[in-house]
Amino acid sequence: MSDSKMPLYRTPTLDPDVMETWSSYVARFENDADFIQQQVEQGVMVTTFDRLVGMLDQVYNWGRRSSIWPLGFGLACCAIEMISTAAGRYDIDRFGAGLFRASPRQADLMIVSGTVTKKMVPQIVRLWNQMPEPRYCMSMGACATGGGPFKEGYNVVSGIDKYVPVDVYVPGCPPTPQALLHGLIMLQRKIDGQSIKDVSWYRRGAVEEIPVPILGADLIDLRRLPQIRGGAAAPEPVAEAAEAAPVEA
Ligand code: SF4
Repeated sequence: MSDSKMPLYRTPTLDPDVMETWSSYVARFENDADFIQQQVEQGVMVTTFDRLVGMLDQVYNWGRRSSIWPLGFGLACCAIEMISTAAGRYDIDRFGAGLFRASPRQADLMIVSGTVTKKMVPQIVRLWNQMPEPRYCMSMGACATGGGPFKEGYNVVSGIDKYVPVDVYVPGCPPTPQALLHGLIMLQRKIDGQSIKDVSWYRRGAVEEIPVPILGADLIDLRRLPQIRGGAAAPEPVAEAAEAAPVEA
């Protein structure tokens, strides 16, 4: 037969083994509707709103977790480890997080890397307020998490989570670059578990600014002002005890 007389379409001949497997697969379904439902669920079609949101979440979260841009600032020795994490040996760019931004308005991860002094807290809170949602905070090292070796110091706060919400804590003094990368992976997992249905930044009025603490004789957290005023108004039990105690000449 010449090429011009070849049929345009030929029925494919299937391997008998394949046909048998297919027949036994189809036989598992009681009717056509069950079979079609199974095919739809395994395919790309979606039939419910929840499934559609789930697929959107996957794409949305994949995009966000693969392009976490940290804010470029460090506080103490932990910052050196953070800097080396971004260098060639550890290559934070593998996670899409190597683009340290100089502006909080372009960053979505604040890595609090180092000792948090009371003098620095107002600046940290102000930077946090300037970061757009969705934003995340990572507490890097013992100092940022709980004061570390300087916990008893008059000038150090015992944990940055008293002022900004922390998503991931990285332990260590200092944490190694590997530990920081592990913290980043944990943050990616957290992002993977979020849904556009319940994230705070899509809710009306849900995102509020944190009042910037005032540094005076001590650090004043404006959210605790009623408590501080109440404490100042209350009588001092120590003074009463001193009055009652007899004074020896
Ligand atoms: S945790 Fe250790 S390494 Fe990190 S800032 Fe504090 S003292 Fe320095």
